[in-house]
Amino acid sequence: MRVLEIFASLQGEGVWAGTPMTFVRLAGCNAAAAGLECVRWCDTKRSWDAGAGEELTPAEVAARVHLPRVCVTGGEPLLQANGLAELVALLHARDVQVHLETNGTLPLPPGETPDWITVSPKPPAFALAPGLRRIDEIKVVVDAGLRPETVEALAAAHPEAQISLQPEAGAAPVSTERAVALVLAHPRWRLSLQIHKLLGLR
Ligand code: SF4
Repeated sequence: MRVLEIFASLQGEGVWAGTPMTFVRLAGCNAAAAGLECVRWCDTKRSWDAGAGEELTPAEVAARVHLPRVCVTGGEPLLQANGLAELVALLHARDVQVHLETNGTLPLPPGETPDWITVSPKPPAFALAPGLRRIDEIKVVVDAGLRPETVEALAAAHPEAQISLQPEAGAAPVSTERAVALVLAHPRWRLSLQIHKLLGLR
């Protein structure tokens, strides 16, 4: 697997914000090739280079995980689906809970399923691959162009998923005001703040 970084911190976003996790950031992202507009405000552009970081086996990655939960993220981690499936199996054998954060454009590989799957669909289409099998959380970044109908359609198509709305930092405070208004209008949704940035954590 091509791994950009592995580090321990608190989850900063979404339902599990504040929970200690080991982050495994895989290298490479398909957003530019897929025409996704998140390339404008992406805050992990250093993850785009598929050759960045170091080459590790799933066993070597698992050996660096020392917390009860791990968050596999990117870039787009499902670009390395085969290694991911093996990593999930290795971590489950140690009772480590595995969270996955994906942009939703690629299917999950066969094999062990992560314990929590956060999908962050991106503009312009906010499309989700049919092979994701299960979605626990849909995290949508609120930027100047987000239409409420887009989130309402995602929520209707995935009633099992928690909807988290995250203001785009570069568009604050307008994006924050929009996100708060949307959550107040849809009380089953919730606000997601990037608390690791607020606290100065990695
Ligand atoms: S999919 Fe994620 S990592 Fe890739 S450009 Fe979009 S926000 Fe950045």
